[in-house]
Amino acid sequence: MAAKTHDLVVIGAGPGGYIAAIRAAQLGLDVACVEREKALGGTCLRIGCIPSKAMLESSELYREAREGLGAHGVKVEGVHLELETMLKRKDDVVRANTNGVEYLFKKNKVTRYLGTGRFAAKGRLVVENGTEKTEIEAKHFVIATGSVSAPLRGVELDGDRIATSTEALAWTSVPERLVVIGAGAIGLELGSVWSRLGAKVTVLEYLDRILPGMDAEIAGEAHKVFKKQGLEFQLGARVTSAKVKGKRCVVEAEGLAPIECDRVLLAVGRKPNTEGLGLEAAGVALDEHGRIPVDDGFRTGVEGLYAIGDVIRGPMLAHKAEEEGVACVEWIATDYGHVNYDAIPNVVYTAPEVASVGKSEEELRQAGVEFRKGTFPFTANGRARALGHTEGRVKILADAKTDRVLGVHILGARAGDLIAEAVAAIEFGATSEDIARTSHAHPTLAEAMKEAALAVDGRALNA
Ligand code: NAD
Repeated sequence: MAAKTHDLVVIGAGPGGYIAAIRAAQLGLDVACVEREKALGGTCLRIGCIPSKAMLESSELYREAREGLGAHGVKVEGVHLELETMLKRKDDVVRANTNGVEYLFKKNKVTRYLGTGRFAAKGRLVVENGTEKTEIEAKHFVIATGSVSAPLRGVELDGDRIATSTEALAWTSVPERLVVIGAGAIGLELGSVWSRLGAKVTVLEYLDRILPGMDAEIAGEAHKVFKKQGLEFQLGARVTSAKVKGKRCVVEAEGLAPIECDRVLLAVGRKPNTEGLGLEAAGVALDEHGRIPVDDGFRTGVEGLYAIGDVIRGPMLAHKAEEEGVACVEWIATDYGHVNYDAIPNVVYTAPEVASVGKSEEELRQAGVEFRKGTFPFTANGRARALGHTEGRVKILADAKTDRVLGVHILGARAGDLIAEAVAAIEFGATSEDIARTSHAHPTLAEAMKEAALAVDGRALNA
């Protein structure tokens, strides 16, 4: 059978891949996308960002109903959990999103191939779906196959009780005792979900702090808040084994007595998903971290072969992959594309949320950059008081000489939405004075951003 031909073929329909396909179609290319899962959207939409946000929302409402509403004079009795309904709602949210991508593919005339793509040679991909095989040839291939949970030696995943985030988003009963390995985004988000639903959660973290990579001061404050919420932390605890033993699981970490629990979540990072792609046949060699090396235009060095998202360098974030997907196909179609890596936000969707963009205090000190710092606590923000969510603060770091905003770090309610203003500020090369002189609606949480900007110059008005 003759090979199918397209101008451009994207492998993987996650946020990086599906956005790349749509943008390429907008630019007039004949585009196809190869995806082995029936549902489009990749890890993010099916088993990552979207279902976890659904569970975070639902579990927070449950907690509020039990512990928070009384303070508003809203007395509710007999609050109880119907986990089955919560899980079904999560699945419905996922379906609406994955169906949305299917609709967008149709609208943009992106051809969809269901099956696993493997390079047979340079410029030739074989898509296997059961016994069916389809050959595809294209001028350009974009690899956007994402990442998978990183294993940890000694931790025996059993697809249920000793789990990765995928299974932990679908447990059909609340564990009495849950051990989370790793205090990164996944560990804290899913640890929070199950803690709010009633589990006693212990987080074991190898480092002496939580949220590595985030600004240390903000992460330290978040740590205190999460502890107050009932999450138990053991820092400096390197996990060496986790095994199912009869009806229980046993987790061992250096310096700690073995911990018995009924479920374990492994969340020690993710690794690029390149297995079985036939990269050797395509002529690509991985770097020492298992990533696909690329240049600024996402070119792998093999003509017509590009890679974006979690399989290349940089943070494993859906929106970073999206920016790269757009820039990559713009390079292909127009000979110019750009991603500003200094303006990629990072959000952890706990309650309160943690959000950041740009450089942390530690990074600036290490680079010898002189900076001024302004912070503003949500306890002094009227809207935060009205909401009843006064934890956290906004912190702005600006260049000491030019006043240009170098980093913004927020712990607080809706920090993930608030950070957008800071991202735009950095994108436009704004100074803290620019933010300070921008009118912010009153009363809003965003006023804390203005006040933190004023505080850079020592002239906050409400603190
Ligand atoms: P992570 O890299 O963010 O955190 C993993 C943590 O595990 C680290 O703190 C690390 O020190 C710790 N660790 C490593 N080995 C250990 C050991 N033996 N014992 C104890 N602790 C150990 O990884 P993650 O939370 O699994 O997330 C994976 C990726 O997915 C990250 O790139 C993350 O940014 C991304 N993600 C992002 C979001 C978000 O943006 N909200 C949500 C989920 C995942």
